[in-house]
Amino acid sequence: MNRLALVILAATLLALFQPAAAQESRLGLFDTLKLKNFHPESRLQVPAHTVLRARYPVIDAHSHNYLEGEDIQRWVKMMKESNVRKVVLLSGGYGEQLEKMIEDYLGKYPEHFQVWARIDDRDIDSRDYPKRAAESVRRAFEMGARGLGEYKDMGWGWGGDKENGIKGVNIDDPRWDLALETAGELGMPVSIHVGDMEDCYYPLTAGSELGTSGAAWNVFGKKGILPRAKILATRNHALAKHPNTTFIGCHVGNMSHDLNELGRLLDIYPNFYVDISARAWDLGRQPFTARRFFIRYQDRILFGTDLGPSEQMYRGWFRLLETEDEFFRVPNAAWWMNYGLNLPDEVLRKVYYLNATRLFHDMDSGAW
Ligand SMILES: [Zn+2]
Repeated sequence: MNRLALVILAATLLALFQPAAAQESRLGLFDTLKLKNFHPESRLQVPAHTVLRARYPVIDAHSHNYLEGEDIQRWVKMMKESNVRKVVLLSGGYGEQLEKMIEDYLGKYPEHFQVWARIDDRDIDSRDYPKRAAESVRRAFEMGARGLGEYKDMGWGWGGDKENGIKGVNIDDPRWDLALETAGELGMPVSIHVGDMEDCYYPLTAGSELGTSGAAWNVFGKKGILPRAKILATRNHALAKHPNTTFIGCHVGNMSHDLNELGRLLDIYPNFYVDISARAWDLGRQPFTARRFFIRYQDRILFGTDLGPSEQMYRGWFRLLETEDEFFRVPNAAWWMNYGLNLPDEVLRKVYYLNATRLFHDMDSGAW
């Protein structure tokens, strides 16, 4: 190859690679920055609203006993300032655990909390278990519990052993039929966390949409886990088997990524409701679809947080539901930004408290 051709070739190659090299050198920090250390600060100038108090009284249908002792009083003060009238604690358990929670919360703050129990799941394989399970529900009601849950089943069943892939109880297990019928008879709704975020059931790759915030929950390929579709089928089976029992699907029924499909299920099962807890990040990235969904199913959606109590947490939720703010971070956000749903007043009322007062015991909202 003659000298001229060589020079031309070298020049061409240089021209080809120079931008990439220049670009790469200009990447500098961003060439090596880890995703978990990337915290972009928005330069966007748009209206931003801090909602100190919810526009209407709020019932938080999904919480847990996050605080103890004197701190509960601090929680009650925060609730009063934020217009949160009542909080449902979904981890009362049964026996002594339930007794203690009822004493700690209802003993001192009966106006502000409600405690939900769990079906006694000891000796579940004994012949008399179904009857004992139903009795444990009745006993819990007599002790002061007003619902059941939260039953978490990501695919191993309730009480299953993840590490060793040992299966627990799915919500449609016949051993729980009598107990769930009893709950229906007593007007005790059942809170069920079946499945989890869609992305958790896919292999963890650079394409995993939840990135770092989802990695911890990823269950793809784990030993003994049911496929996601099968887990959700156990829920649908329970909904069909117990039409007189109210079921509340936690976390937008773990279907916040597909509100259309969720709507189809709500149309089929009138005893199925959802709480919106721990999914602000998913609802707030689809403001138009979510807003239409809230309006269409305004009688079936319950406010819930599933987050430790703080002013910031409550205000973040109120901002998401009440404003049309753009490009902001919601409580427990994923890496992407969110948008307000600007819900109509009537929908807000129902989501905030009217649906819960219709479904739950002891919610005398008359004075609110
Ligand atoms: Zn929860």
